[in-house]
Amino acid sequence: MKIPFNKPWFTGKEPHHMQMAAIFGQISGNGAYTKKCHEFFIERFGFGKSLLTTSCSDALEMTALLAHIEPGDEVIMPSFTFVSTANAFAIRGAVIRFADTTVDYPNISAQQISELITSKTKAIVVVHYAGAACDMNAINALASKHKITVIEDAAHALGAYYHGRPCGTLADMATFSFHETKNIICGEGGMIALNKKEYFDRAEIIWEKGTNRAAFHRGEVNKYGWVDIGSSFLPSELISSFLYAQLEQFDVIQMERTRVKRDYLRAFDSLNRNGFLTIPKLPDGATENGNMFFAVCRTNEERNQLLKFLTREGIHAVFHYLPLHNSPYFSPLHDGRELPNTIRFSENIIRFPFYSGLETEDIEWIAKTTAKFFAK
Ligand SMILES: *Cc1c(COP(=O)(O)O)cnc(C)c1O
Repeated sequence: MKIPFNKPWFTGKEPHHMQMAAIFGQISGNGAYTKKCHEFFIERFGFGKSLLTTSCSDALEMTALLAHIEPGDEVIMPSFTFVSTANAFAIRGAVIRFADTTVDYPNISAQQISELITSKTKAIVVVHYAGAACDMNAINALASKHKITVIEDAAHALGAYYHGRPCGTLADMATFSFHETKNIICGEGGMIALNKKEYFDRAEIIWEKGTNRAAFHRGEVNKYGWVDIGSSFLPSELISSFLYAQLEQFDVIQMERTRVKRDYLRAFDSLNRNGFLTIPKLPDGATENGNMFFAVCRTNEERNQLLKFLTREGIHAVFHYLPLHNSPYFSPLHDGRELPNTIRFSENIIRFPFYSGLETEDIEWIAKTTAKFFAK
């Protein structure tokens, strides 16, 4: 393959910081590097509190615990998302109500959410697809009217804004991913951001196996014990030191990834204008954060042929997501509603290679090769 789908980008300082963590001598979690990462996020984005986790999946599980999700509670979320968004609530026994996306952009539709709200609705989970914020003004208005918790799955949305406010501060709590396919990486890793004081203490307890160990470390209590349910959601210092090296270069990484995105938009402009592919416009109030480049093909057949064609030419493009409401696990549980926009995006979306260091010439070649497919 000449151009892979993803290539993790390293600042070069990762081994240094990992070595420093080992020299400091504490390599378990919640040490000096973990704190430095928390401080970075709070200072930079104004989250009320931030806790690193071992993945975004874990952070989502924490949100379900914090929101007191119990068997039978209803949770509204998009079907067009990664499986972890749903799993976190399914394992608590929630009844998941999958909502369709908007027509123009694969973000959850506020209109659909309003139709699914019942007296049992406990939470709404939104996914800012490709870093473009959902219609949070409408969604938060619905949630506050019905007293429902709102959670942002912001796995794509680090460094993205909505009407000037950072993603991750737009709801009660938010989750992020540092998996190697995201903007900022540490192999496997994540974070929960909390924007309501009432969550702060309990989040720390859930994070530390249901104990008040974090408060003990600060000297606030003289012994620690089992005070609530929880798990081991915190990463080791080896992971957080790696992540810290990436955060030191946060602006460089974001600038480079938005450059890649700009190059793509320029290179694919004529394919978009001629209607061979559609590149959805950013929704109202959303900004670009260089998360990914995707386009919507006219048909599923054409999308699949294009993927094959590109593979033969040495370009690794991919598709996603398989709709969760139709999945082998969930389809027997689904209420039968059709989600036509979800199906269309799932069948027709193509994601092109995207990583720091993907050269302008490579992007132009990818566009030319794609144009060759449509000229056939
Ligand atoms: C990547 C991703 C996740 C899962 O992140 P992990 O850190 O791999 O657990 C969850 N939701 C969305 C929308 C994602 O893209």
